[in-house]
Formats: sequence, structure tokens, C-alpha cells
Amino acid sequence: MRILYVEDEKFLAEAVIHLLKKNKIAVDWAEDGEMGLELALKPNYDVIVLDIMLPKMSGLEILSTIRGRGVKTPVIMLSALNEVEDKIKGLEQGADDYLAKPFKTAELIARINALVRRPPLVEKTEMACGDLVLDLDNRTINGESLTDKEAEILKMLMKASGQTVSKTQILAHVWGAEAEFDENYVEVYMSYLRKKLKQLGTGAEIKTVRGLGYRLVNV
Ligand code: CA
Repeated sequence: MRILYVEDEKFLAEAVIHLLKKNKIAVDWAEDGEMGLELALKPNYDVIVLDIMLPKMSGLEILSTIRGRGVKTPVIMLSALNEVEDKIKGLEQGADDYLAKPFKTAELIARINALVRRPPLVEKTEMACGDLVLDLDNRTINGESLTDKEAEILKMLMKASGQTVSKTQILAHVWGAEAEFDENYVEVYMSYLRKKLKQLGTGAEIKTVRGLGYRLVNV
């Protein structure tokens, strides 16, 4: 198990990390908000432990940014006792648990273990839209193989059931933490997908909604 621990108080961090490691929990430590965000966007962690008061960027900002980009890693927020508002904000923005400082490291370990044991939300492995069947396990559409990104984009369009999905949403969800953000990627992938749909001879079509994004229709 590997966790990300974002904490600016060096002595506290060192003491906690020492005990986590003793309990066979590998830890990457980030000492400010910017570094924390950069690491939190990587798919490397079983749990993220996030202090709220941090230099450069607060724990709440990190949380809302990663959730906005589709990162589902469980998050435990830390903050000083009595900051009830922080607790509420954290849980509203998608934190999974909350621990008030000062805390016992044993308590933190128990919470981490509880989150890791919790079964992940079961995602459907097959989705359908009219005569179109997307198999997310095998990354195929009506038996034709897809790249990972093509499958993710189709999944978003199918989930939206005919509603428009914006380029920005697609970019954030499918490319996420990848360094270079460019909406042209989305256009390029849409053209790949359109070609594949055409070859399949399905009634499904990806429509461009000018200035807004894309939607999948199936007549
Ligand atoms: Ca702090």
C-alpha cells in the first residue's frame, strides 16, 4: 500500500511517516500544496492524507481540483480541532474521511485501512446505447478494439445519454494529469471515433454541438 501525505509541519510529518512505515505503509510526502497537487494527480496512491492549512495551495483546493479531474482516490482530510467548517467543506467536496489534529497515528492508520478495505464503487463493465455496446473490460465497441482514451471518451458520451459533454470535461477526465493540455487532442480523438462508428455501420453518431462540445445520438 502506498499513500500520499501532504503536510507542511515537518516534525509532525516525520513522526507520522515513521509510524506508517513501521506498519508497512509506503509514504510519499509533499510539504506544500503545489507539490501535493502534482503528486495527487498521479494514479499511484491507495489513499491521500491531506492537511487543510498548507503553503501555496490549501488542502481544500487540492481536493476540489483532483475530484474535478476525476481522481477517485480516497482522501482523508486533516485539520485543527474545532474547524468544523473545514470538515463540512471537505466532505462536501468529496473527502472520504476527516481527522482532527492532534490525532494519534494509530487512529490515522485505522482510518487508512478502513478506506482501503472498502470495496471500490463497482463500475459497469458494459454500456449500451441503441445498437452500440461498449465493453469496458476488453475495451471494445461492438467487438472492435478501442484505445484506452477512445474507450474513456465513449464512456463519457454514453453516460451523458444524449446530453452534451464539453471538450473541457473530456480533456480533464481523459487526459487529466498529463502535462500538455490541448483541446485539439479531443478533436483528433473524435475523428478517430467517428471513423470507427462509421465502419461499424451503427446508427450511432457523435454530433458536434458548436461552442459547447459533443453528444452521442443513436437513431
Ligand atoms: Ca498545516
